[in-house]
Amino acid sequence: MYDTNNIFAKILRGEVPCKKVVQGDYFLSFHDINPKTNVHVQVIPTGPYINAHDFIQKASQDEQIGFWQGVNETITALNLKGNGYRLIMNTGTNGRQEVQHLHIHILGGNDIGPMVVKK
Ligand code: AMP
Repeated sequence: MYDTNNIFAKILRGEVPCKKVVQGDYFLSFHDINPKTNVHVQVIPTGPYINAHDFIQKASQDEQIGFWQGVNETITALNLKGNGYRLIMNTGTNGRQEVQHLHIHILGGNDIGPMVVKK
């Protein structure tokens, strides 16, 4: 069940402020409150989707296309294409997802290092 009180739902409703990057009909992007790299931005769909598989299974084509267009517009707005970036979608317990509204991290602005540390 989608929890309408998660922090990103509150941002979408304007109840919690954010440092916006770009907004469209199907997405919102904003700077992460605790950036892990020089540039760390979240892109979220405007619809109530918990995670990647929830979104892929339930979102309309317009929502899915609109979300990915939002990712592209945000990467362009942040001027990250030249030096590159990393996209991350944490999902569930093993993925250590903290916020239960689908979000994709855009990380860039410096060399981010190895993808994951092997345990
Ligand atoms: P995840 O572990 O993938 O769910 O990541 C959640 C991300 O949301 C973390 O990077 C947090 O720093 C970020 N975050 C939590 N609250 C806010 C907020 N109010 N504004 C912006 N980013 C936030």
